[in-house]
Amino acid sequence: MPWVRDDLCVNCGKCIDSCSSGAISMKGGKALVSQEKCIKCGACMPVCPEGAIRPNSENPVLAGRSGAGYGFGQGMGRLRK
Ligand code: SF4
Ligand code: SF4
Repeated sequence: MPWVRDDLCVNCGKCIDSCSSGAISMKGGKALVSQEKCIKCGACMPVCPEGAIRPNSENPVLAGRSGAGYGFGQGMGRLRK
């Protein structure tokens, strides 16, 4: 699932419009992806002018996990090997 780097997000709101699932909201001036609503379509990632929406594989919270069940971006590539 995509996640948002708070240090890059500039509160422009463009990602919200790109998400057909209504999974993105603004919390404290930063975009937040809802784990419950996100369908992992990836549409929000190229829309962000700051590159603040990052693939699951870069999520520090998931560092060290195998990636199984969390496939997205680079993570999916690893699973195909
Ligand atoms: S498009 Fe990028 S910079 Fe704009 S609100 Fe969304 S995450 Fe933040
Ligand atoms: S990956 Fe798709 S469903 Fe998930 S937040 Fe981005 S646009 Fe919305």
